[in-house]
Formats: sequence, structure tokens, C-alpha cells
Amino acid sequence: MSHAQARIALALHGGAGPIRNPDTSREEALLAEVCTRGRERLRAGAAALDVVVEAVAALEDAGLFIAGRGASPNRNGVWELDASVMDGASRRAGAVGALVGFQSPIAVARGVMERTPHVLLVGAGARAFAEREGFATVADPAAYYTPSVPTAPGDGLVHGTVGAVARDAEGRLAAATSTGGLLGKTPGRIGDSPIIGAGTWADERVAVSCTGQGEYFLRAAVAADVSARIRYGRYDLARAAFGALDDMHRQGGDGGLIAVDAAGRVALPYTSQGMRRAWLDPDGTVRAATFQ
Ligand code: ASP
Repeated sequence: MSHAQARIALALHGGAGPIRNPDTSREEALLAEVCTRGRERLRAGAAALDVVVEAVAALEDAGLFIAGRGASPNRNGVWELDASVMDGASRRAGAVGALVGFQSPIAVARGVMERTPHVLLVGAGARAFAEREGFATVADPAAYYTPSVPTAPGDGLVHGTVGAVARDAEGRLAAATSTGGLLGKTPGRIGDSPIIGAGTWADERVAVSCTGQGEYFLRAAVAADVSARIRYGRYDLARAAFGALDDMHRQGGDGGLIAVDAAGRVALPYTSQGMRRAWLDPDGTVRAATFQ
């Protein structure tokens, strides 16, 4: 196997929403820890798909981000969560929207991909599927969830998400994203995160996970646009990632994305105040940052 074939790559994000506390050391330490674990899995030959789902599940469980345990309820006090996953090598994808009552939305999204002929299940249908398949439930939401950001009236568009993208040693790419969406959101509101092509995308060229104001990412189909720019415009990864994000930003939105390409390059652009993130340098060193 040539060096290029063996090159692994991994990047994670913990959201690009408003950052109230400038001390993001806890989040960065956790992202770095999950990134280190993912690197070891990729070095041991794990598939990109497994690594991104494991990483997102760990970030959901941490309670430090607006996803999984750290998510906030909607306006009616119900935790409706969204997630999606895509496997670039096979183009298979799975997603859940407005899922209520399950600990790991990303695990259920993978279940939709692997155990149904569908890509996206939402609401009561997603819940019935997850129940039938025996995914871990949340028995007592008030005790289980530890909202990472308290909802305050007049918060406006406070939001957050977690995501992961990877290239494994065999060159396969995968992306996963999970979110609680907007704080105090309208019941039934779904953003870009569970929509394949908007918040998540993976093919043979690139894997992308987005974070930001979902409505803008939906209208710009940001995640798939990164791949289209590489495919049709022959852009390199950094230019494609920035161009897709800039198209969204020009329409008034803010946010960021993480992407890896077939050569194992990583791009982490954002237009917001910051983006909590961790990634592997080309030599395998784990890095984490929020600002800069
Ligand atoms: N994109 C997510 C949503 O709109 C939120 C975020 O990434 O901060 O649901």
C-alpha cells in the first residue's frame, strides 16, 4: 500500500454557534480526546464510517455541546433531536429528524441506513423505528439531559451541533452530524443537520459536516456544494470548502464546516465568531482550537 493510500485523516467539530464563555478549554480537551481515540481506531484499520459514528456518539454523550445529552428542549419542553450519517464509498446514508426519547440520535441514524430501505425518518415514525430496533431510550428526560447552554427568553438564534469527518487507511470517506438544533425551537423544526446534502455529505471525493444557522445551510445545500465545486470546478479542498460556505454567508447566515478529501487533506473554515474543533495534522498530531 502506498503512503497516499495509507494516509488517515480525521476532523471533529463541536459547533459554531454563539460562544458566550470564552474559556473553551473543556470542550477543546474533550474534542482532542475523542480525536485521539479516533486516530488510534483509524491506525488500527477501522472503517471511516465506524470512526465518525463513534466520535459523534461520544460527543453526544459528553453533555458539553448542543447535541445528545447536552441538547436543550424545544419551545414545548420536548427534546427533539436530529442526526445524519453518510458513507462515501457506498453512498449509503441514514438520518433522523425530530427524534424524541433516544440517547444517541446518530446511532438511530445509522440504524435507518443499515436496517431500512430509507434515508430519513422523522417524528413518530423515527421513534417507532428506534423502539422496534431496541435503541437505548431516555427514561427521564429532565434527569438525563444536562443542557450545555440554558435556554433564556430572547436568546434569538442560539444553536450548536457536533460532527465528524474521516478518511480511513483504505481511502474511504464518511461524515456524521448530530444536533439539538436551535435553542427553544418551534416544535417540528428541522435544520440542515439531518438533511443529506445540506448538513452532511460524503462521496468518493470529500466528506463534509456543517454547523451553523441551519436554514441558511439548507438554502445553499452547503455540504453537497463542496463536492460539486471539486467535481465540476476542479477546486482544491480549501477553495471548495470556503466557496460553499461563502455562498451561504453571502445570504446572511453564519457557521462553519469540517471536510476531508480523498487525499486526506482537511479544511475547517468558518464565518462565525469561532468553531470548536479538533483535527489531525498531516503527521498525525492532534490539534484543537475554537478561535483562530
Ligand atoms: N445547524 C444546526 C441546526 O440548524 C445548528 C448548529 O449547527 O449550530 O439545527
